[in-house]
Amino acid sequence: MSQNEQSVKNDVFGMGAKNDAYAQYFTGQSYLKNLVNDPAVNVGVGNVTFEPGCRNNWHIHHNGFQILLVTGGAGWYQEEGQAARKLHPGDVVVTHDGVKHWHGATKDSWFAHIAITAGTPEWLGPVSDAQYNAVED
Ligand code: MN
Repeated sequence: MSQNEQSVKNDVFGMGAKNDAYAQYFTGQSYLKNLVNDPAVNVGVGNVTFEPGCRNNWHIHHNGFQILLVTGGAGWYQEEGQAARKLHPGDVVVTHDGVKHWHGATKDSWFAHIAITAGTPEWLGPVSDAQYNAVED
């Protein structure tokens, strides 16, 4: 049973379209709505929505940082070598330069966060089903 579908889809920032541009770096279906389109601002701000079970690949934000503002549903954030952190609306995650990590929905809930991102991402391998299922314990 999928949880939080309506509340996430009715997010005040809007769900946006299917995230085709980054689909190769995700497992499952995500959606992206870019919130700032200003060439004078070199920080990306986007609303990212994940269907249940969807997560992005392991990745690193180089020469920058990322701040996640959780707006809906339930999700996970994990840095390599650390326990996964369960995320709920109102949670804030700061990822420092060079830290390998992933983020995404729980297995049974939709999930949405605003991502504020500076620098250049390096996309790595997918979070395997074994790795993903391990955090659900
Ligand atoms: Mn990230």
